[in-house]
Formats: sequence, C-alpha cells, structure tokens
Amino acid sequence: MCGMGEIEYQAGLHRLTGNTYAYLQPPGTWGFSNCGLVVGEGEALLVDTQFTLPLTRRLLAAVEEAVPGVPVTTVVTTHANGDHAWGTQLLPDAVTMGSEATAHGMADEIPPQALSALARSPEGASPLGDYARRFFGHFDFDGIVLTPPAKTFTGEAEVTVGGIPAQLIEVGPAHTSGDVIVHVPGEGVLFAGDILFIDDHPVMWTGPVRNWIAACERIAATGAEFVVPGHGPVTDVAGVLVFRDYLAYLDEHARESFRRGLRYWEAAMALALPEPFASWGHRERVVMSFAAIYRELGDRDAADPMAVLHRTAEAYQRLP
Ligand SMILES: [Zn+2]
Repeated sequence: MCGMGEIEYQAGLHRLTGNTYAYLQPPGTWGFSNCGLVVGEGEALLVDTQFTLPLTRRLLAAVEEAVPGVPVTTVVTTHANGDHAWGTQLLPDAVTMGSEATAHGMADEIPPQALSALARSPEGASPLGDYARRFFGHFDFDGIVLTPPAKTFTGEAEVTVGGIPAQLIEVGPAHTSGDVIVHVPGEGVLFAGDILFIDDHPVMWTGPVRNWIAACERIAATGAEFVVPGHGPVTDVAGVLVFRDYLAYLDEHARESFRRGLRYWEAAMALALPEPFASWGHRERVVMSFAAIYRELGDRDAADPMAVLHRTAEAYQRLP
C-alpha cells in the first residue's frame, strides 16, 4: 500500500526529489498534518501551514535549515481546515493562494477559540467534549488570526516558483468545499492535501464522495512517483488507488444501508471492513463519511454537522 519505502515516516522535512520536500507529522491523527515544499531558484513555495503558531514556527525553522536564505514567496492553502491553514499569518510577505471556495470556507470552520474551549470541556460532560479533549487538548491555539488565501482561483492555476512550474488543481468539493491538489510535473511529485489520508480513515466533511473518487483518479493519472497525503506517510499511485477503492466501498455500502432504512451511525459502525481498511486508525470517522453520503441522498438526520460530530464521538466511546 505504501510503496515509497525509502521515505521514512518520521517528523520533519524529507527531500523527495531535487526540488521538492515533504514535511511529515506522525502520528498523522487529528491536527497532525503534512506540508509540502517546492524550492526553485531563489524562492520557495509552501503547500499548507500547520495547526498552530508553535507548530508552524517549527515547520519554518526546518525550511530555513534545509534551504537557508531562500524565502517562501508563495503559500498554497489546499483547503480551509485549521490544521492546514492556521499558521499562514507567520508568512506575511508570501502570496497566499487557494480556491475561491477555500477562501470562503475558512469562516465556516470551528474558530480556534471555540475549538480550544471545546478541548477544555470538563471530563465526562459530553462524548464530544471528551473526544475533543483527547485529540485537541494538546494543541496551543493562542494568537491565531484566520488568513484566507488572498489570490483565489476556480478550476486550475499555474505557478512558477524560481523556474519550477507547479499546477494547482481544484478537485473539491470532496473532503471540504474547496480542495486543491498541487502537482509538480517536472519532479513527479503530487501534494494531495486531505484528498488523501494514509493508514487512517479519512474525514469526509462535505463530499460528494464521487468527486473524491474522481480526485483520486486524477491523482493517479498524473503518474506521480511521490504522492504526499495530508495525513500519514508518503505514498505512490498504488496507495492512491487503494484509497479510491476504500471510498467506493463506503459509497456502495452507505447507499445500501440507506435503502434498507438503517440509521447512518449504526450502519457505519456495523460495516464489515476488509483489509487493509480494517487496520486503519480512527474507525469512528466512518460515521462522518456515512453521514456525508446519507446527506447526498437527502437524509435529514445527517444534515446537522454538530449532531454528526456527536454521533462520531459516541461511536469512538463504544470502540473496543
Ligand atoms: Zn487535515
């Protein structure tokens, strides 16, 4: 599943090719997101920042150590989730780019202050409070100022960074409303943002799932040698196709459960998962994916995003 065995899944910046790097953040669970770096002549492009200001400072220190004196002149925000965008204010001189939907979507995210408060819920107050404390309680959300991409586009855009062309391709709505992937064709590298989770179940905030499946096929069609997911280890086209098959499996089974009148959270947790999916982390996230697919089918229970998060947290509590 993970063909690029030579890129170890260790924290920090890893050189992929002559001009590209992946910044990896094990364990890749909630908030531990990867970034990408493209280094051209005298300037660099960063794909995403980190969840918090301290984590982003660590990322920028690693970049400075790898390519001393080379300024990051462009930041591409792959989507609106905080773990990819809440450090962008630390690059005030860079041009920030993203899809129009991402720029608008940032205001719809749970704000850092609210997430911080939820993560400090008293123990036992609610399953969602416990879930938030467990997975977000260790992050320091102080001082974050939302910084949506200033230069937006729909469809595709091309950027040349110090002579290296990079293609920004909008493939959302899928994981979020405005997902963008970054292809560096001359290097055989693709930064997938959260269109790809490796070794964990993905988070499906919006769907539609079939757009997401198409996005995986688009990635595979590039023939990229290195594919950097938003969370998890670096993979290749074979890894992307496994992930696509997973999405197709969920799609088929969620539709079947809906037809049979099952409730999305019960159907999600009753779903039998073949390998390798059965070994992935965050089993409870299947509840969110089933909710997204049920929403497409018009299910009213699945329409309230907070209710879906509550169901997900309850499912987590019942996991073995
Ligand atoms: Zn993410």
